[in-house]
Amino acid sequence: MFITLDGIDGAGKSTQIEMLRQYLESQGQTVACFRDPGSTKLGDAIREILLHREDIPLANTSEMLLYMAARAQLVADQIRPALESGATVICDRFLLANVVYQGSAGGLDVEELWSVGRCATGGLEPDITIVLDVDPEVAAQRIQRAHDRLEKRGIEYFRKVRQGFLEQVSRAGKRYLVVDASLPIEGIHNAIRELFAN
Ligand code: ADP
Ligand code: MG
Repeated sequence: MFITLDGIDGAGKSTQIEMLRQYLESQGQTVACFRDPGSTKLGDAIREILLHREDIPLANTSEMLLYMAARAQLVADQIRPALESGATVICDRFLLANVVYQGSAGGLDVEELWSVGRCATGGLEPDITIVLDVDPEVAAQRIQRAHDRLEKRGIEYFRKVRQGFLEQVSRAGKRYLVVDASLPIEGIHNAIRELFAN
């Protein structure tokens, strides 16, 4: 089973992934957690450029393709092998985020991004994507550390990101669970857990 979590920064992805990992492990599953971009040598190097190297100018299209390259390596080196070994994979963000941030909010063509994404992932799709939906101002207030290059893009950008998530999810049908991420941490966890109750 391949599970991804998405939503704007501060929505609670890291928090919920850790809780879900513990829950699934308590059910006897082997769980492998990754983050996109990241979790490979190439992915970590690309992540550093994308989030922290503000001295390197990035055109929209090159930014998008760097995310795709990181994801291609992540699928090849980590996600496919883990799934083949029988593990449940939980990934912090995946292709949907790229489509929404660089497409819906960033102005690139959304259909084109899904298509480049299929090339990057070799067609691998999550079995379920959990989208944590929250007002960007609420999410921003939760982030205590210094803001990275993406987080500095301002509230209008994040409103478009939020809208983009909701649009993509409603178009594509039932492989998505949208959870109200303004709820308390335990309430969100319980909503996610219900997916896995037998
Ligand atoms: P993300 O990984 O989506 O950026 P985090 O899980 O790191 O979000 O959460 C960001 C901050 O908000 C953390 O300090 C976390 O403890 C807090 N937080 C997470 N979920 C909630 C919630 N439902 N309500 C209030 N605070 C939360
Ligand atoms: Mg996080």
